[in-house]
Amino acid sequence: MNMFEPVCRSCGTVHPVEAVYACRKCGGSLDIRYDYERIFADYPFAELISSSGWDMWNYRPLLPILPEAQAITLGEGGTPLLRSRNIQDLAGLPRLYLKLESVNPTLAFKDRPLSVALTAAMQFGMQEVVCASTGNTGVAAAAYAARAGLRCTVYVPASTPMEKLGAMKEYGAELQPIAGSFSDALETAMEQAVLRNAFNLTSTYLNPYAIEGNKTVAYELLAQLGRVPDWIVVPIGAGPLLSGIYKGFQEMKRSGFVDRLPRMVGVQADGCAPIAEAYRSGAKEVLPWRSAVATAASGIADPLISYPADGSRTLSVIRESGGIALSIPDDRLLHYRKQLAMREGVLAELSSVTAVAAVQNMLQDGVLRNEDTVIAIVTGHGFKDMSVQ
Ligand SMILES: [Zn+2]
Repeated sequence: MNMFEPVCRSCGTVHPVEAVYACRKCGGSLDIRYDYERIFADYPFAELISSSGWDMWNYRPLLPILPEAQAITLGEGGTPLLRSRNIQDLAGLPRLYLKLESVNPTLAFKDRPLSVALTAAMQFGMQEVVCASTGNTGVAAAAYAARAGLRCTVYVPASTPMEKLGAMKEYGAELQPIAGSFSDALETAMEQAVLRNAFNLTSTYLNPYAIEGNKTVAYELLAQLGRVPDWIVVPIGAGPLLSGIYKGFQEMKRSGFVDRLPRMVGVQADGCAPIAEAYRSGAKEVLPWRSAVATAASGIADPLISYPADGSRTLSVIRESGGIALSIPDDRLLHYRKQLAMREGVLAELSSVTAVAAVQNMLQDGVLRNEDTVIAIVTGHGFKDMSVQ
């Protein structure tokens, strides 16, 4: 018997370990369930954490990968955790840390889920992969597909920055421009995955294997910080990174390795904020963003059209954790991008800056206490969208 299986979050139906994206019975979203008792008997968390070093794949027992599969890796994970000291507006908060996912092999956190996804593609014997992407997933998919020797096609909305398109091409991926938003690109990717029998790597909640890679951020944070932080602030499109980090902490709590959980904060840009909007209105379900997408933070500009349930899944995690969701105007993002670069030496993608700007909002609104430990996840590198001013 496998140590893990895809399970429907709505009806509980268990699915075989194969390329599957939604419940075959009710269409619900899938999660990977592990046989934690057996895993923790063989691999106590204390050992996993202490032996982690700088390799995400040391956490392999908690990833949905069969024992015989060979990891497709470029050395992802093990990213630095920097204390932020110099951003003036945030000086009231002495325990603010930046988790630099921006220094992964393709300069974004997506390398974690894509490394797992390409390893899964190989374990399922797939010949080809596809994805829809606002940029970072496409770049990571292209790189890891190159490493695996698989053909890769990326469906990209018109707003994708040229730096990301150039990188995808260089890695040898085939680019298919799509008129419209990320949601339109996703629809095409889903059709093409079926037609071409390709593994769909799109990093909404679609691929249940891929999103497990995000959990490893949680294990690393605990190893680096030595304790559970009070708040983790995450830029979100659909939000699988936020849910993944929370799942990682839940696993550590379940194993008895930690005794509490962090509060999760999801941040969007004002110009495309379906999850923040639902949070503000007190709604349980997230609605698709019907206005025009009006932000330069392209990495998180996901209107969730035709899959708003993904947003609801993230919102439920935020609420369960006692966290909040909020959104930030673009002019503040440009201000804090400059602050981060000039005062901390950290060049961040515009989408990533939402996390730092949100900390200032929370401080101002009295949500944070001065003694709180706060992690802002810097999801992508500024080199990825330097043309955005
Ligand atoms: Zn179901």
